[in-house]
Amino acid sequence: MSTIRPDTAADPCTEPGTAGLLDVAEARRRILEAVRPVEGAEEAALGEALGRVLAEAVAVPFDVPPADNSAMDGYALRAGDVPAEGEARLRVVGAAFAGHPFTGRVGAGEAVRIMTGAVLPEGADAVVMQERVRAEGDEVVVPGPVRPGENVRRAGEDLARGAEALAAGTRLGPAQIGLLASLGLARVAVRRRPRVAVFSTGDELRQPGEPLGPGDIYDSNRPMLLALLAGLGLEARDLGCVPDERGAVEETLARAAREADAVLTSGGVSVGEADHVTEVLRALGEVGFWKVAIKPGKPLAFGRVGGALFFGLPGNPVSVLVTFLVLVQPALRRLAGERDVDPPVARARARAPFRKRPGRTDYQRGVLHVAADGTLEVAPTGPQGSHVLSSVARAGCLVVLPREAGDIAPGTWVEVHPFRGLMPC
Ligand code: AMP
Ligand code: MG
Repeated sequence: MSTIRPDTAADPCTEPGTAGLLDVAEARRRILEAVRPVEGAEEAALGEALGRVLAEAVAVPFDVPPADNSAMDGYALRAGDVPAEGEARLRVVGAAFAGHPFTGRVGAGEAVRIMTGAVLPEGADAVVMQERVRAEGDEVVVPGPVRPGENVRRAGEDLARGAEALAAGTRLGPAQIGLLASLGLARVAVRRRPRVAVFSTGDELRQPGEPLGPGDIYDSNRPMLLALLAGLGLEARDLGCVPDERGAVEETLARAAREADAVLTSGGVSVGEADHVTEVLRALGEVGFWKVAIKPGKPLAFGRVGGALFFGLPGNPVSVLVTFLVLVQPALRRLAGERDVDPPVARARARAPFRKRPGRTDYQRGVLHVAADGTLEVAPTGPQGSHVLSSVARAGCLVVLPREAGDIAPGTWVEVHPFRGLMPC
């Protein structure tokens, strides 16, 4: 027996027809469950490893730093030689520079002039910064107290030999590349880059540079998707723009599935259209047509065509961008072998009202500001229609408004997903 459930009896504002939609979290879970990382690793030179994903963990081959060394310019000495109160007069017996260690030993009543990064000489157990001492000829006067270990960076303090420097599945950004270099590694094992084929569908689509006929629009989805893929360090295959003709769609899709690990299309997945993508997908692959409780971007096709993962994104550009960021990106990151596929999340207070009807999780576009009290505030970027690409171009984050929420009043705390981090990669 089936029951007909009203959308939300309690709230007459609920968007009609949204009760049975698939929750975003559930859609994301199902998608991620279907994705396995690409097999195959290759070696990449460090200079070419930016954005690549480590195929295996990297172990620390030696203590970093390799030896105790000085954190300051000053004098290396034995802390016990300096009284807690009063001062000690020590004989300066040599100098240690970064890359030029002092080869002797620091004995009782002795000190060695030392620079930042120079190896701590044998016998010494502390460094006193030069601003604290008085140099007098070949002697130095050091006021107490001096703590053993003062201004000394210990061997292995950053990373101990044998520890895991970076886990398998780490995406290499500037800091990770710096770390690998500090370990003396010139090459690293990275996963093969997934190949992702992209094509647009639609008779109305023209390419930038071409004139527009009546009813035509420019194909903005494909350049945007190719840019997103480039940003993820994936190998994109641009299969162009395909008219709404069964033969053309079939041919392009079959080729895409042969050549790529994943296929992304835009347009032609809403129901009730004269739309060949849906038919072809049914014929060529195992593809489900989902209605996800996401705004924008309700219709989404997901499944497999041959050996390739398939994502049929909606046609409207903002829907494409949002569904890519929320549902496709985590899957492609996992396909690439990345361990952590969750978005960066912050919380901010609504600076202005956000209009919303209960029924779908809404990913509006916002601008972040730091308020006078130091907390984050977020304001909408104007009209939020799924065709209004300028709302995204002006934005700095997605503002995630919960499925059951209605209008959001100023001052309400909301979740935001910032577009950019600080590190340029
Ligand atoms: P569809 O899902 O194919 O009906 O497309 C929905 C809306 O998105 C229509 O207004 C299309 O013209 C538009 N659209 C589809 N593909 C693109 C594209 N590649 N670039 C810009 N707009 C598109
Ligand atoms: Mg279309």
